[in-house]
Amino acid sequence: MRLLIAEDEPELAGQLESAMTQAGYAVDLAADGEDAWHLGETEPYDAVVLDLGLPVVDGIRVLERWRAAGRDMPVLILTARDRWSDKVKGIDAGADDYLAKPFHMAELQARLRALIRRASGHHSAELVCGPVRLDTRAARVSLAGEEVRLTGHEFRVLAYLMHHQGRVISRTELTEHIYDQDFDRDSNTIEVFVGRLRKKLGPELIQTVRGLGYRLTEPRSEA
Ligand code: CA
Repeated sequence: MRLLIAEDEPELAGQLESAMTQAGYAVDLAADGEDAWHLGETEPYDAVVLDLGLPVVDGIRVLERWRAAGRDMPVLILTARDRWSDKVKGIDAGADDYLAKPFHMAELQARLRALIRRASGHHSAELVCGPVRLDTRAARVSLAGEEVRLTGHEFRVLAYLMHHQGRVISRTELTEHIYDQDFDRDSNTIEVFVGRLRKKLGPELIQTVRGLGYRLTEPRSEA
């Protein structure tokens, strides 16, 4: 899962970036509204944290432009104070949730998890596929009750596939959702990550759909 964080206060932006990276997300930062607007228009984010008080172009305008252009990713807005009128404007402009500063990181993370799982049609914080469970709260994975250790990239590949179970996901789509903007992307490495996940979680969980990509489906026989 990949996030855009549009926040112009460097300290808060840095805290958000490190907290969300630790929680298993790929993170891009934008420090002004122009940059945020451009990234949100061109990159496929799974969710966006958008400060309303951004320089150059304010957050409401950025959000209005995204929605007008048909960009429908979940957006959580940050308002500077607990001003009810900002929340109303933000929600009317297409925000899915809001938080007033200052906020607790744990609350922001919980709200983002909820937005991401709702956007992909899930209702529980724990995603299940046969014997494999992914706890989005703790970024933990288990196989038949035993914890499985994954690297950051393996976790992101699995998390994206688990959120989109049953759908065929191309390598390009996976690549776009597991790396941040500055990473030197190579879609061949996806194959390596999938191979390692099969080794750790069983060969049947992730199917290769020839020429199209990968699909995660519940294994027929449960071990
Ligand atoms: Ca600001």
